[in-house]
Amino acid sequence: MAGVTASNRCPQCNHSVFAEDRYCSKCGERLPGGQSFSAAEAAGAAMTKAMKDRRVRTVAGGAAIGAAAGLVLPVMTTGFGLVAGAAYAGYKLVKKD
Ligand SMILES: [Zn+2]
Repeated sequence: MAGVTASNRCPQCNHSVFAEDRYCSKCGERLPGGQSFSAAEAAGAAMTKAMKDRRVRTVAGGAAIGAAAGLVLPVMTTGFGLVAGAAYAGYKLVKKD
């Protein structure tokens, strides 16, 4: 069984890592001795590295907010359209004399 040992060290930042770890949990550096190397894992490692950069994180956060707004906005505009339409209809109703 894979033992949980913290005897290994990251060659990049010297952070102590577990023997079965493929990437440093601190800097995202790929550790020697890792078995497989998939694209998803590479993306995960790149993400870990990117998250260390505040500028990248800010951009990623902005993109996430933009995506969330893009999801919410159609609902909001539809709701606003209903309210605005109802208000206009009501206004016209009152105004007709
Ligand atoms: Zn490291």
